[in-house]
Amino acid sequence: MSTLLEVEGLARHYPVKKGVLVQRQIGTVRAVDGVSFSVKRGETLALVGESGCGKSTTARLVLRLIEPSAGTIRFDGQDVTHAGGAAMRALRRRMQIVFQDPYASLNPRLTVGDAIAEPMQVHGIGDADARRAKVQELLRLVGLAAFHAERYPHEFSGGQRQRIGIARALSVEPDLVVCDEPVSALDVSIQAQVVNLMKDLQARLGLSYLFIAHDLSVVKHMADRVAVMYLGQIMEIGDKRSLFRDPRHPYTRALLAAIPHPDPARRGKVTPLGGDVPSPMNIPPGCRFHTRCPFAQDRCRSEAPELRAVGSNHAAACHFSESLPDAGLDYSGGLT
Ligand code: SF4
Ligand code: MG
Repeated sequence: MSTLLEVEGLARHYPVKKGVLVQRQIGTVRAVDGVSFSVKRGETLALVGESGCGKSTTARLVLRLIEPSAGTIRFDGQDVTHAGGAAMRALRRRMQIVFQDPYASLNPRLTVGDAIAEPMQVHGIGDADARRAKVQELLRLVGLAAFHAERYPHEFSGGQRQRIGIARALSVEPDLVVCDEPVSALDVSIQAQVVNLMKDLQARLGLSYLFIAHDLSVVKHMADRVAVMYLGQIMEIGDKRSLFRDPRHPYTRALLAAIPHPDPARRGKVTPLGGDVPSPMNIPPGCRFHTRCPFAQDRCRSEAPELRAVGSNHAAACHFSESLPDAGLDYSGGLT
């Protein structure tokens, strides 16, 4: 599989200012703080972490909906970071986003048909008749009846609205779809339907997904690879099977411990995480996870661990990855 998206050293820092007439900078928020990953063609990379870890910011940086402070983004060999005008427009068509809240992202005054057709219009694709035909095709593709095109977003359920959001993203035939927690706002029973639809669409259309979630259970059946983020950096990244079977970072272990093990007899011996995520304005020195890590040692408080290989297609940023106690964790059960 060839690489479609390549992100290196991506960062988004912004100053925090105080004062009304005279403003002075009181700190810097490091929302994304040096993140590198790639997404191959036809692959799903999941980006997982608690809220505030920088995953949504990373999604927006990749699409350049916000500008990075540092780092490079390459898409299909082209430099996204410095692309301007026409080049950026062409790239934007090939990278679409599905938002968490389908209701907030759909204009209530547009019919569903017009909302789905809007990106095609923006990118000058087809005439009105061609767009109308494409809307019908897209509605069927996401499992909705064609007559729904004449209706308004409020007439649909949350799951249906997310199907509409997906149809809208697919209208311009992108290669990459960035999915920012697309099922987090949905009932659990509906989540699986939408995830299955997305997997099905991926197989049919050869899509690549950067799939963001705060919960590892959601990405278990969706992802090919998983990256776990904490305070703006990747703590662990790897092939899904390897990461679920043998997590090598204490943070990943804590996230796994928070989801029910498929086999109750084999629930892990890891206690769920205590404490809050520190502020991204005040990132702890050394290993940024040390204030919550049950295995922290002196070295962790002063020396930041590098992300390094702990297996084939598996890397972790922990000084003690190799010597973590066997937690009795194996969450790879049921993986297909
Ligand atoms: Fe915990 Fe130290 Fe590893 Fe950081 S480097 S995750 S504090 S053991
Ligand atoms: Mg978010």
